[in-house]
Amino acid sequence: MKEKGRLFIISGPSGCGKDTLLKTYFDRHEDVEFSVSTITRPKRDKSDDEKYSFVTVGAFKELIEQNRLLEYAEYCGNFYGTPKEPIEKWISEGKDVLVEVETVGAEKIKAEMPEAISIFILPPSVELLKKRLSGRATETPEQLEKRLDKAIEEMKKSVFYDYIVVNDSLEQAAEAFERIILSDRQKTERNINFINEVLKNA
Ligand code: ADP
Ligand code: 5GP
Repeated sequence: MKEKGRLFIISGPSGCGKDTLLKTYFDRHEDVEFSVSTITRPKRDKSDDEKYSFVTVGAFKELIEQNRLLEYAEYCGNFYGTPKEPIEKWISEGKDVLVEVETVGAEKIKAEMPEAISIFILPPSVELLKKRLSGRATETPEQLEKRLDKAIEEMKKSVFYDYIVVNDSLEQAAEAFERIILSDRQKTERNINFINEVLKNA
């Protein structure tokens, strides 16, 4: 029998480099599924299509009513949610899955699935975070201000996560991230079926 897959929760303040880090990981690995979130924020650019599916607030509320979201949260005036069905399917097929969510969503997932592994991505400093976020030039000054306030609030929650990855050098952060995923796969609890298989005819 195949072991169940693992859900990895990734959080971090806006501009810390989550997308950049995940892109680096997925450029090198194809062994993890990425959960495409359903969101109501206006599209930023074409790269958004890879990680989000865009819906109206009305359609989002329907998803909530139909109980089709594993979690959802409001972030800086927009809704973000994780579709439940694909995650349940992948996990039952033994596939590892990555979800990128803000801290409220992460807390909800941990409450529902305590075995999920949570990873918080931190910037090396608040100064660098501001520089990266404003350098990305995707937000208005007002939105930027909101995101920076939210960033401080979110970084205070990093202490509740299982792992911390500091995104200073992208290469080192990508390696640290990869090590967390690889070592989790060696955990005894993820290899019980294999142990039983080996011992079956002993
Ligand atoms: P997030 O997804 O967390 O909001 P992004 O991945 O969009 O953040 O990164 C924000 C900005 O910081 C982007 O312009 C990106 O190129 C830059 N960036 C990300 N990681 C690094 C890094 N390790 N060193 C320097 N710049 C980075
Ligand atoms: P952004 O607008 O920068 O793409 O995302 C804003 C925040 O929403 C980020 O912290 C991101 O991790 C988070 N986010 C993305 N998808 C989801 C989701 O499905 N659920 C929740 N709760 N947060 C999400």
